[in-house]
Amino acid sequence: MGGLATLAGYYGLRPDLNLRAQTQPGAADVVERSRVPSDQYDAVAKLCFNENPFGPSPAVLEAMTQAFKYANRYGYPDGGIVQAIAAHHGVSTDNILLGAGSTEILEVAAAAFLPAHKKVLGVEPTFSTVYEYATGIDASAVRLPLGPDFRQDIPALVKAARDNRTQLAFVYLCNPNNPTGAVVHKEEVKQLLEGIPEGIPVLIDEAYHHFVEDPDYATSFPYVLEGRPVIIARTFSKIAALAGLRLGYAVAPAALIERMRRHLGTMHINVLARYAGVAALKDTAAQTATRTTILGLRKKTTAELTGLGYKVIPSETNFFMVDIRRPVGPVIQDFRRRQILVGRPFPPMLQHLRVSIGTPDEMQSFLTAFKQIV
Ligand code: PMP
Repeated sequence: MGGLATLAGYYGLRPDLNLRAQTQPGAADVVERSRVPSDQYDAVAKLCFNENPFGPSPAVLEAMTQAFKYANRYGYPDGGIVQAIAAHHGVSTDNILLGAGSTEILEVAAAAFLPAHKKVLGVEPTFSTVYEYATGIDASAVRLPLGPDFRQDIPALVKAARDNRTQLAFVYLCNPNNPTGAVVHKEEVKQLLEGIPEGIPVLIDEAYHHFVEDPDYATSFPYVLEGRPVIIARTFSKIAALAGLRLGYAVAPAALIERMRRHLGTMHINVLARYAGVAALKDTAAQTATRTTILGLRKKTTAELTGLGYKVIPSETNFFMVDIRRPVGPVIQDFRRRQILVGRPFPPMLQHLRVSIGTPDEMQSFLTAFKQIV
């Protein structure tokens, strides 16, 4: 009870937490403010950050264990992570840039392509790292509302790109989108790339690529092969369950990679992450198994919610949004009091609760709590 009360106090009784959540804090900011005291962390159901609850596969753990012997070195063999990613996509190593998570990739893309007083274009809500970067450097973001069915409105994005032609620095497209889980179909990506002014870089964030089932979706990676100004961001945090290790990458034409590289620190990726990444790329069987389990849990949970009469936005990811028909702020706090962390509010969708897929037990606790609270 003591722990529970502390946790409730930590999350539930600080009015400033609620208040700030309404003003769209950045992802890193949210993670910092949501940090659970370490003695309570394991007991809490973590359905708030779209992590992979099952952890890295045995092969990845083994690779990291072997890599520990280099923990005291600078010039260690690095497992060939850049080569492995390049081979995975059939490109040259010049087309790859490693980041400490894809967050760092999004940041360096913004640093490379967005000068002060220019504009980045995208939708809202979406993953907001590049918008936060824009605010920080006195650039600005043109954020369009989502279209019908909470999907990204591609004709509206094309129009806004043309209307802002002189100020536009780059376009950010999160596909599938976080927080809605909705995909942009391959035909729509084509429409976007062909409709916007020529030469404008498009940063396509495919953090949740591995969870998609919709046959009308496709990775935009072939556009890089065509030499278009497209930057794909990928992460090992989701399907490979390495969020705490920090490993992501960009795939882009070599000239764009070079522009981004200038804004990147050196020695930012640690040895364990490098070896873990190589092993994760090889372990496709583990990824398929994780994906099957996560998608099964998502379908089961969302079917229950639909059965209770709540609308769920069709998701192609390891999380979903449910319309709870009332403000999410207090409901999030109620879940926290029951030691369940769910997603923060995502303005302007303030009646939609974002829930990440956790373990079967966590999803059961979530459903039990949902019935009590909502
Ligand atoms: N892009 C999207 C769409 C995300 O949801 C996240 C994390 N939640 C990231 C990028 C960043 O992930 P990471 O830095 O762990 O790779």
